[in-house]
Parts: sequence; structure tokens; C-alpha cells
Amino acid sequence: MSTAINETLIRDVVSEVLGRLQTSATSPITPTAAPAAATGGRDGIFQTINDAVAAAKAAQQRLVDAGLEKRAQVIQCIRDICLNQKEELGKFEYEETKIGRLDHKIAKLVNIGTRVPGMEMLRTDAVSGDHGLGVTEYAPFGVIGVITPVTHSAPTLACNAIMMISAGNTLVVNPHPSGIKSAILITQMIAKKARELTGLDNLICVIEKPTIETANEIFTHPDIRMLCITGGPGVVKAAMASNKKAVVAGPGNPPVVVDETADIEKAAAGIVIGAAWDNNLLCIGEKEVFVVESVADQLLEAMGRHGGYRLNKEQMDAVAKATIHYDEKTGHYMADKKYVGKDPQVIAEVIGLNLPRGVELLYGEVDESNPLLPSEQMMPVLPVVRCANVDQAIDLAVKYEHGFGHTAMIWSKNVNNMTKMGKAVDTTIFIKNGACMAGLGSGGEGFSSFSIATPTGEGVTSPLTFTRVRRCVMVDNLRII
Ligand code: NAD
Repeated sequence: MSTAINETLIRDVVSEVLGRLQTSATSPITPTAAPAAATGGRDGIFQTINDAVAAAKAAQQRLVDAGLEKRAQVIQCIRDICLNQKEELGKFEYEETKIGRLDHKIAKLVNIGTRVPGMEMLRTDAVSGDHGLGVTEYAPFGVIGVITPVTHSAPTLACNAIMMISAGNTLVVNPHPSGIKSAILITQMIAKKARELTGLDNLICVIEKPTIETANEIFTHPDIRMLCITGGPGVVKAAMASNKKAVVAGPGNPPVVVDETADIEKAAAGIVIGAAWDNNLLCIGEKEVFVVESVADQLLEAMGRHGGYRLNKEQMDAVAKATIHYDEKTGHYMADKKYVGKDPQVIAEVIGLNLPRGVELLYGEVDESNPLLPSEQMMPVLPVVRCANVDQAIDLAVKYEHGFGHTAMIWSKNVNNMTKMGKAVDTTIFIKNGACMAGLGSGGEGFSSFSIATPTGEGVTSPLTFTRVRRCVMVDNLRII
């Protein structure tokens, strides 16, 4: 895509999104403007679930009829938009949601453009033998109902779209209300470019004013064949209660164990990078550390050399008291929304500290009474617990992972300890000697996804996750040897 096309595309879409969302258009891109009256059905944006599903259903048939070459063009167009408009989209989402870090919002879009798998994963399998030939093909479900989180609004939508459309599906999306403008912006960009290139429309249909009620309509709509839900405990519970096939990417609380054999300098650097990434918004991000007593002081010191700012126990308790509460509805400790994804400097102010730029993470020793341990804090504040030995560290890691089965890490050179923890914690992603991002292909092997299906067991989702496996056999023929 040429630069000239990029600029024209983004100018057109931004001005249209703002025209639709602003009551008075006095400034340039300003995602804080209040939504105006909706006009349904233009470039994938709809006012009702029924209209969105009807459009997505018709679009899915056209997508399948259009053939694989056109489908590949759509996928490339989504990747190109993520890569070529990363700064504009990243800035827009950062200003709309006011959480995380701008540099990491941009990096997430690059990740989608480069590491999320597409149609290449859907290779037909074949067996041939005495009785002829059998092929296994990966067919679409149809229309998929999608719920996306505020932590990565446009990235989750784009990632889901690449995988689901690759497999021949279309999407009806209920984004988090606090990230709706970013979801609309990327959807309209994709819609315009995909139509221009292929003539295909409404592959991604977004609800302009998403609510819990519209989410529930998606859960029960007869023409939605499958759900893909990415979010916290509340939406996981709601999705698991629906009668549809659901791929559910739920919350995590990833623990890190550091044993006495670990390379402490590397562990400290990796833990700070991972826990500080996007101000700890990642579901795979390091949320608590259990370190063996004999190397605890070394680790705590080393983290300060890699961008961490160490708090003492009283300060860690004070941060927790000011930011974490118990949520009766979900039964989980949670951070107050006003601190989720905020910079460490903002959180430090809560306890009267004025920290310079360059501090990436607050951290410090705590005991088990500190509610940062059980909470998925999603703030750049990392509690560290000193443990008598690796067995105690693993036990506590299992306890505070809460059985989510999401992500866990160990820093160690002892294979027995690695294996012991891997078995005990039983998570979907288990990382040895790497930061959390290594589990999704950044600094580790494997592809990337923004929906890691934990309670339903599909794991790191891929285009194959969104397919029906079909077999076709030809008896006594087509075997040519
Ligand atoms: P959230 O649970 O507040 O919202 C997620 C989505 O669910 C939003 O679209 C929201 O509007 C909707 N929602 C919330 N409650 C609902 C209900 N009762 N019925 C229907 N819809 C409902 O989460 P968030 O703050 O947007 O995102 C952060 C959470 O998502 C964290 O818990 C994080 O671990 C999780 N997450 C998981 C993955 C993964 O791949 N497993 C990826 C990203 C985020």
C-alpha cells in the first residue's frame, strides 16, 4: 500500500468516524468526543445486533463464494492497516482508553501485522491407501460473535478478524464501551480498503453502542454459530453460561518462580520488561514473583538496575490499600479502574512519591496478606514474596494462579524444578527463562494471538480454532500410486 493511499485512507476514515462520533467537531483526532446519533450499516458499523448479524451472514456467503485469492487480499489488507497506520491507530486508542503505553500500543499493532497466522495454517490433510483417498478440510463456522477487551481494543479485533476471516467466517463484534471508538476506526479502515480491493463488505460488523444487553443478544442469536470472548471473570461467566460453542479467553494472574540456580541478572531484566509491558495490561504479564530466599536479595537489587523502583513493605501495603478492592460480584480482588494501566509515576503519587520518567515498574517485597498477590492488578506494581525453597515457591505460584490455567513462568537452570512447576501449575502457556511475551512469539518460538482460550481449552487461538473439521473420502479411486 503506498504512502499516498495510506494518508488518504486514514484521513477519510478518521474524519468520517469523528463526523459520526462528535457532537461538535472543533479539534482534529479526539477520541474523547461524545458519540452522536448513529447511522447503521455503513462500513461495518451497526446499531442493532439483528442488522449486524444479517449483514455478517450475507457477507459470509459472499466471502466463501469470492474464493481464496480475494480472501487472502482481505487478510493482507488488515495486516497492512495494522503496520502502516500503527502510529495513528495506537495514538487514537491510547487517547481514547487512557491506559497502557503509547509505544506498546504501536508495538501490538506491528505484532498483529507480522506474527498472527492466517490462511497458511489451513492446509488440507490427506490420507491415501488401499481404499482410495480421504481429505480433511477446515471449513468455516459462519458468523462468529466476538467480545473484545478495553486493554487491547483494536488489536484484539484485528487479530480475531485475521484468524476468523482466514477460515472463511465473518464477525459481529461487541467491543468494550471504553474502546469502542478505536474498534470503529480500525473496522472502517479495513472495510473501506477491503471493499476497494475485493468488493467485499461487512466482513467485520461492529455494534456502535455496545452494552451488556447487546452482548447477551449475541450470546443467544440463532444465526451466530460460535462465540469468541476475550475478557475478565464477569464476561467469562456469562459466556460459559450460553448454549453456544464458545472459545473463551479469560483472565490470568501469571506467577513467576525464581529459584537458586537462575541467572539472576537475566531474570531481573526479563521480569521487569514483562511486568512493565503496556503498564502490565497483558493477560500473560507477570503479576507476582516467588523467589527462593538464598537469591531473593540479589533479585530485588537487580530489578532496580533494569528500570524497576523498589518500594519497602509498608509502601507496597499502602499502594495495595489505595488501589485494590474485593469485588463481591466476581469474588476476585481487583484494581480500582482509575489505576488500571496507569504509569508507575501516577501510582507512586498515591503514596506521596514523585518519581522521574524512566521508572518502568514499582516492585517490592510483600507477605501473603498483601492483596496485590491474589489480584490481577493490571498496574505496573509487582509484589515479590521470599520463599524458603522452590517447593514453597511453586505451591504459592499454583495458589495465586487461581486455577485460571493461563500463564506462568520460571527462571531456573534446574530441569527438575522446571518440570515440577510445569506439571503443578498446569497453565496454557508456561515460559522458562523468558519474559511473558516469549510465550506469544516475541523473544520465544511460536505465533501470536490476542485471545488465549483458557477455560475452554483451545489455547493460543489460531485460524484453525475457528474452523469445523470436515472429511471427504473417495472410495477405491484417486490414489495414483
Ligand atoms: P472486562 O471483563 O471488563 O470486559 C471484557 C469485555 O466483556 C468487554 O467488551 C465488556 O464490555 C464485556 N463484558 C464484561 N462483563 C460482561 C457481562 N457480564 N456480560 C457480557 N459482556 C460483558 O475486561 P477488560 O478490562 O476489558 O479486559 C481485561 C481482562 O481481559 C483481564 O481479566 C484480562 O486477563 C482479560 N484478557 C484475557 C485475554 C486472553 O487472551 N485470555 C486477553 C486479553 C484480556
